[in-house]
Amino acid sequence: MEETLVLIKPDGVLNKKVGKIINRFEDKGLKIKGMKMVWIDEEMARKHYNHLQEKVFFDRLLKYITEAPVIAMVICGKEAIEVVRTMAGETNPLDALPGTIRGDFALDIEDGNMIHTSDSKENAEREKELFFLKDEIFNY
Ligand code: UDP
Ligand code: MG
Repeated sequence: MEETLVLIKPDGVLNKKVGKIINRFEDKGLKIKGMKMVWIDEEMARKHYNHLQEKVFFDRLLKYITEAPVIAMVICGKEAIEVVRTMAGETNPLDALPGTIRGDFALDIEDGNMIHTSDSKENAEREKELFFLKDEIFNY
């Protein structure tokens, strides 16, 4: 089964939406194979968002992702990468449809967009390795 890396971002933790977001993945039938709270430091943030370093919003993104802890999860299921991205909704919460996580729990991208989800198999592998040791991902 396919695996994807999900982060409930600092705004999700600060706004106490962790339980509600995890509920959605469980209700969908996805399996949590790894989960931990991580306070991302600048070095890790730069690695995670390496491909965005030229963007005008990069410095703000680093500040945002390091401002409080995140919940990191390895989520598993049929076509999990695409399914979880659909559940997250569009990057900008203003464009995210109701029923999606960003559509339901966020409004202004300046205040955050609640969640990170891997966008490809290659990035899912890279991101899982960045956040989890092999023995922290459980096969059951
Ligand atoms: N981001 C932002 N402004 C933008 C685009 C992106 O602040 O115009 C932030 C936002 O937190 C987003 C993250 O950068 O989730 C990564 O951007 P990406 O394009 O990978 O979006 P995602 O895959 O998270 O939907
Ligand atoms: Mg992305």
